[in-house]
Amino acid sequence: MVEGRIIKALSGYYYVKPHQKGQPTIQCRARGIFRKRETSPLVGDFVMVELSENGEGTVHEILPRTSELIRPPIANVNLAVLVFSLVEPDLNLQLLDKFLVHVEKAGLDAMICFSKYDLFKNSKDASKQAEAINELVQYYESIDYPVLLTSKRTNEGHDELLAHMANKTSVFSGQSGVGKSSLLNAIIPGLTLETNQISSKLGRGKHTTRHVELLELSNGGIVADTPGFSQLDFTNIEQEDLGYYFSEFRAYIPDCKFRGCLHRKEPKCKVIEAKNQGNILESRYEHYLFFLDEISQMKRRY
Ligand code: GDP
Ligand code: ZN
Repeated sequence: MVEGRIIKALSGYYYVKPHQKGQPTIQCRARGIFRKRETSPLVGDFVMVELSENGEGTVHEILPRTSELIRPPIANVNLAVLVFSLVEPDLNLQLLDKFLVHVEKAGLDAMICFSKYDLFKNSKDASKQAEAINELVQYYESIDYPVLLTSKRTNEGHDELLAHMANKTSVFSGQSGVGKSSLLNAIIPGLTLETNQISSKLGRGKHTTRHVELLELSNGGIVADTPGFSQLDFTNIEQEDLGYYFSEFRAYIPDCKFRGCLHRKEPKCKVIEAKNQGNILESRYEHYLFFLDEISQMKRRY
């Protein structure tokens, strides 16, 4: 048996890269039994492969997963690189906080790239906004999300981004047009993903017909070539749990006077107190309330 990782799935074949250095990728079929089981192999899975004489293999066993993304379907991702442009499109902090909720729910680490920094610096009110951006960077860093300012034009932030991705399995996420493909192309030599894709109203870009593939970085990092987390709704999140997905709320929640406190208007709510004292960013708290409403509206619909 050979132990390896599925880096691509196409037309019923799985392509497994053995852990042992220098070994060629093995083209595999899955054992028939996976069709009957709930779990079938996913890109990103660590697997045991049985080799046959013709050099092909059979995926014999899937090793336990640490995480599982649905869109794109990848197992064992541990870092979400959230790309949010400062301009064109304008910085969307509400969507950023929404992504962070989903990242926390999925149990991944996250980092933030504020992209198109060159365009931002050349914009007419850059000097007015620079301080606000600086404060945002500091705030998100203070709640343990590393933040980078990146630019495709000047290559700023690219080396640091690569360093953060070392020895991790990453997926890039963010709205269409923020520069995800450009970033990937910039940090992976030889990669030529199409940029500036025109997406339809459904948000489907040209890339959706392609199959997700894991790409190797020279520093041991692995990155999916297809952006992830495209569909973000709160179907699987309860109102009472939402606060725990705002990582900086967690420390305060146990001290709220009421168990099941939703941190809305309840007396002696420690989250609200922390917000009033400036320890929780106002916009984070507002987005929390907004998502809380979104969840209750969804529940009413079903
Ligand atoms: P994606 O949809 O998130 O993959 O975004 P793309 O990588 O396709 O980029 C969308 C558009 O923004 C393209 O026209 C890129 O050339 C442009 N773009 C991306 N990153 C930058 C950047 O850092 N600076 C500037 N000036 N333009 C950028
Ligand atoms: Zn509370």
